[in-house]
Amino acid sequence: MAAAPFEDKFRQLDELLPTPNDYRTASGKPGHNYWQQRADYQIKAALDDDKQSIHAEEWINYTNNSPDQLDYLWIQLDQNRYQKSSDLLNAAPSPTENKLSFRALAATLKSQDFDGGYKILAVTDKNNQPIHYQIVKTMMRIDLKQPLATSKAFKFHIQWQYNVANQKVLGGRGGYEHFEKDGNNIYEISRWYPRLAVYNDVMGWQNKQFLGNGEFTLDFGNFDVELTVPDDHIVAATGELTNASTVLDASQQERLKQAQSSDHPIEIVTEAEALAHQKNHTQGTKTWKFSAKNVRDFAWASSRKFIWDAQGIKSGKNNVMAMSYYPEEGNPLWGKYSTKAVIHTIENYNKYTLDYPYPVAISVNGSVGGMEYPMICFNGPRPEIDKKDPSQRTWSRRTKFGLISVIIHEVGHNYFPMIVNSDERQWTWMDEGLNTFVQFLAEQSWKEKYPSRRGEPRNIVAYMSSEKQVPIMTNSESLMQFGNNAYAKPATALNILRETIIGRDLFDFAFRQYAQRWKFKHPYPADFFRTMEDASGIDLDWFWRGWFYTTDHVDISLDKIDWLTIDTQDPEIESAYKRARKQEIPESQTELLNKSIDHRLINDPSISDLYDEQDEFTVTNKERNEYSKSLKNLEENEKQLLNTKENFYRLQLTNLGGLVMPLILDIELMDGSKIHRVIPAEIWRRDPKQVSIFQITQGEIKSVALDEKLETADTNIYNNYWPRRPIKSRLELFKEKKEKNLMKDSQEELSQEDETDLDTDANEKKSD
Ligand SMILES: [Zn+2]
Repeated sequence: MAAAPFEDKFRQLDELLPTPNDYRTASGKPGHNYWQQRADYQIKAALDDDKQSIHAEEWINYTNNSPDQLDYLWIQLDQNRYQKSSDLLNAAPSPTENKLSFRALAATLKSQDFDGGYKILAVTDKNNQPIHYQIVKTMMRIDLKQPLATSKAFKFHIQWQYNVANQKVLGGRGGYEHFEKDGNNIYEISRWYPRLAVYNDVMGWQNKQFLGNGEFTLDFGNFDVELTVPDDHIVAATGELTNASTVLDASQQERLKQAQSSDHPIEIVTEAEALAHQKNHTQGTKTWKFSAKNVRDFAWASSRKFIWDAQGIKSGKNNVMAMSYYPEEGNPLWGKYSTKAVIHTIENYNKYTLDYPYPVAISVNGSVGGMEYPMICFNGPRPEIDKKDPSQRTWSRRTKFGLISVIIHEVGHNYFPMIVNSDERQWTWMDEGLNTFVQFLAEQSWKEKYPSRRGEPRNIVAYMSSEKQVPIMTNSESLMQFGNNAYAKPATALNILRETIIGRDLFDFAFRQYAQRWKFKHPYPADFFRTMEDASGIDLDWFWRGWFYTTDHVDISLDKIDWLTIDTQDPEIESAYKRARKQEIPESQTELLNKSIDHRLINDPSISDLYDEQDEFTVTNKERNEYSKSLKNLEENEKQLLNTKENFYRLQLTNLGGLVMPLILDIELMDGSKIHRVIPAEIWRRDPKQVSIFQITQGEIKSVALDEKLETADTNIYNNYWPRRPIKSRLELFKEKKEKNLMKDSQEELSQEDETDLDTDANEKKSD
């Protein structure tokens, strides 16, 4: 029988990673011929608040920086995911259980009659001549009359209309929320204009269809956007407002100026003003103008209901306005926390990545649970409003910290992927995982022991040993356990690298290198893996391989400890040692019961001899002579080594989970002294399943703990202790359920309670 093939956990990754080239180097840096495309937009849009629809037109100037000639362009039409025929709706599996939330049922029914998706009204060139195009579900191909040569630009025009989805019913990363009591809407408008798909050196055209999970892959460009909305709406958007003097009144302009140098958030639109707006619906319109430089997308929000606060901060050399827009229903939580959480995010992310480069950073409250765009994000949590007395507002611990956390997360997305612009349609983890990791660092600097959901190794344990997993290195649409796979696991892996494998200083240097190298560019996984090694000087191929390419978990078991001391070879000492070991063997049951037997030897001493008087450990002169002789053959230092008094403990460990990790040992000796020892993961390189290590001590070992501070996400800590420790828990008692008793139950009076609480909207809202 042939031996089982050896599994080399340290096999180098190069064979899995793409071959380096002029565009992307082996060190993980952009190459000397790195290029990327550019798309600049001028957009004019009008919001129809009565019909919840948008009419718009855009001029796109597309610059071909690639070395290739392009025959056609691909445009993203993500809004088409709301079409009844969309792959997103049609490829959705049915629920596996026989139960459904009210919310899910309402969404399923509504999606069948919502007239969603883009209506493309015209695609024309700069001479206003029609251009041939073909719509392929969520993508559109534009056929060029002449191929677009290298370093040439092509300008064209698209006109379209679409109905904005009711986000509260249909879900999604944008839409409107309707407020029944005052008749107003909050619009959170995103992926609302036909956008250029990315053409690059790795993917060619990234024109994979939008199925709902793989988000948006976009190139950088400048945006000039004019948004026409009801004239009592307040608009928040990607970019700088360029016509404040037209759309804001004198006092609002004054407050905005004051906010620039304030040390706390200043209300530009107060709660009283917002309440007045939402009462008096006016008929006219206003056009808000925004300009955004070097962004990969543009989103906006509009409502009569908005309170607006702002505080200016410094980000490196840049002046940034941190701002929040929210309805009074968001207070008092939003006024207290939102803008401060925006500022906290920028201060902390700047430390680990790059200086926030944009002029505004905005958090908007609407029905979207959490979604990111350049300079602006949508965040959902609000207090609970008492139905009888709306001024009574309460919130759970989860709502409070959920609000702060989602703002940190979504503002944090400015760094990943809005600036470090990874391919979201392909790799969710490259933005969600990295962002969730820095989110954890930022949360932990909000307050000590901040209740972060993701980042601590102990929080990922259940997922790591769960069924139905795929590796992190899986396309966004094929992920299982989305949040755990693409957010929590990579974030935790990076935290383990930082705290346990590489160390904070070295990790922070390497991670910052990655952000600096790839800001305003398109990195892929290999660029990240290579940069982290290149800048840290640590071979991490085993770590990427295990954590990112497999579904193995950590379960290292401390199985056995052998206690060895030096054999002195001195027959007097060694015989006594062996005798003592033999005496440690307990008397057997037979031996104990036989003690009372009437032994012949006792009754008849004449049969006794030497072997009955001496045991097998009795030292003979022959042994003494051999010992003296053998000593003569030893060097002086060898003789000294025979007198070594240290204890040699051999710890035997097995790898049950598959992932190799460092062995972090905390050893306590009988005298109370402690030894902390970290053995690098490379201990596993010659045998990934079982290793033994030597621990030399002066005294006797009392106990050993493996990974005592829970640094490695070991899924079974029971086998981490020697001796084993019992696991403390509670035994719950319950009453057995009684069978329905028709005779007795039918005698019960009908309850007269007139108020039935039908509020079942306890669903956890998804954030991206
Ligand atoms: Zn996210």
